[in-house]
Parts: sequence; structure tokens; C-alpha cells
Amino acid sequence: MTEGAVRRFDGAGGERIYQIPVRAFRGMIAHTYVVIDGDYSALIDTGSGHDESNADLEAGMAALAAQAGERIGWERLSRIIITHGHIDHCGGLGYVRARSGAPVAAHHLDIPAVSDHPAHLAAQLAPTAAFLRWAGVAEAVVGQLGRYFGGGMRGAPGGEVATVLADGDLLDGRFAVIHTPGHCAGQVCLRLGDVLFCADHLLARTNPRLTPAHLEAHNGLGPYLAALDRVGAEPGLRLGLAGHEEPIADVYARAEALRESHLSRLEQIRAACGEPRTVLEIAAQIYPDMQQPPGLLIALQAIAARVEYLEQRGLLAPDGELTPRFRATA
Ligand SMILES: [Zn+2]
Ligand SMILES: [Zn+2]
Repeated sequence: MTEGAVRRFDGAGGERIYQIPVRAFRGMIAHTYVVIDGDYSALIDTGSGHDESNADLEAGMAALAAQAGERIGWERLSRIIITHGHIDHCGGLGYVRARSGAPVAAHHLDIPAVSDHPAHLAAQLAPTAAFLRWAGVAEAVVGQLGRYFGGGMRGAPGGEVATVLADGDLLDGRFAVIHTPGHCAGQVCLRLGDVLFCADHLLARTNPRLTPAHLEAHNGLGPYLAALDRVGAEPGLRLGLAGHEEPIADVYARAEALRESHLSRLEQIRAACGEPRTVLEIAAQIYPDMQQPPGLLIALQAIAARVEYLEQRGLLAPDGELTPRFRATA
């Protein structure tokens, strides 16, 4: 992390919000946030737990104390909040808990991923392999999967989740909890006054990656679009602070743009299925530059989330079960 990478935002209630970017993975920056309000302070997300990510988080905490003059340190933290159980957000929880005894809050659906991410990833291997076979991926490529999960299976477990979150909760009298599945089953956005910590539900530039319900329950495009509605119905949001990329100045416009983008992709997929196609074949057409792992897995998940959405609505019909081919209905 470079000096000065920490950014400050002001909450409407006088809270100071600091964004600490961390190098979660090679080429991927994730944002963690520290919210300070009087004696109360909360850390939102922890980075990946990889060495560079931990070093950036440590440097960010030190910068708040040294540069911003905040009376903050690991031992002063009141709360740790995990927005969702993906490794770039919760993988560093074991590192943080070795330094802070603050109670951890996370949504109930993501407790296994948050409390023991390495075990969670290990448990995901078999369902993910089954998903890849269903999509039409060759056995040789399915066999490479463990290598891409391997790094995440070595970290320290996050430990106990003391506060189990559900939609509609008001955490610590401050953060309104909004459940936003689709990207991750237990993802939450947190509303603090007119600021929305939007995790990976809304990103400023890219379409958040979707997880198909076929791979993990509670996810998929249907729940994602419903969660866009849910956030869009929140009145008076001034600023979105996401898990990656830049702050979002107009949360409502961004939610609408994401919806439009998904709906136009649905048309593309229907058009690709004039002849019966596997999910892999559709992905090759729509994402021709994402045909190697790990990008291939992301592309397949994105296509599968839309294919299952169209199938549920009778707009695509499957042929076969083990590796179905989908054809557009009239
Ligand atoms: Zn995520
Ligand atoms: Zn993320």
C-alpha cells in the first residue's frame, strides 16, 4: 500500500469513515473500511489474509493513528463486520482476530464461510466439480480445480461469529442490515445514514459476479435482481462504498445500469441457444476471452446464473441431465 492510499469519507451523523485498500490477490484490490463514531469503531471486512493483504491492512490501521490522528488500534476496535463469505473479504479474519477481541458480525447464511474459510473451500470442491461437469467442462479441466482453491485452503480460520445478522437488523444501533444475495448467499449491505456499504452487490465499473443457485442455494440472477430492487427502494442514499473499485456517487443509477446490463445479456443467451448448447458452449460464445481457469469458472457461473433464470421462466428448455443442452423456446 502506498502512503496516503487511505481515503476518508464523512458520515451524515458525524462518523468518520476510512477506506483502506488491500492487495487481496495479485491484480485485485479489495476495500476494507473503518468507521469511527466517538468511542465506537468498526472494521468492515478484512481482506484475503494473504501476506500483502495483511500488510496493507496493518499499514492502513497505523496510518489512521499516525496521519489522521485517530485514537484507533486493534485493541480499541468495538466491532468486526463481514459483508460476505468470499475470501477477499473474510479470508483475513483469522489474522485480525489474533489482534482484536472485537465481536464478529456476519449473516447467518455465510457463517460456515466466515468462521472457517479453509474448511468451507474444501467442502466446496465436490459441488464445484459437479457443477463443472453439468456445465460441460472436460474432466482434465475439472481436475485442475483444486489448484485454484488451494491457496485459500491454507489460511487461518476466522473463528466464532458472535452476532448473527438478518435482513432488517440494526447492528450496534447504527448499521441497517440489508440482505443482498445473488453474488454470495449471505451478503449484506450496511446502511449508515445516507451511506451504503454495498459490499460486492454494486460495483462502480464492473458487473458483480453472480453465483448460480445451481452451485449454491439462495443465489442466482432472480435473487440478485430482487436485491437490486431492495437497495433501489432505500430512500436518500448519497454514496455507495463498495468492496472494490471507486465510490458510487449515484447508487440508484448504478443499480439501474446493472439491471439493464443483465437483461440484455439474457437476450444474448437466448439468441445463442437457437441450437441446443451446453453452458460451456454458451460461455465460449459470450465470454471468448475467459476460456481458461480461473476465469472460466467465473464465466460459467455467470452464464449458469442466467440460464437457470431463463429456464425457471420457461424461456430455455434443457435436454439431458448430467450435462444438459439448453434450447430457446419459441
Ligand atoms: Zn464477493
Ligand atoms: Zn470481493
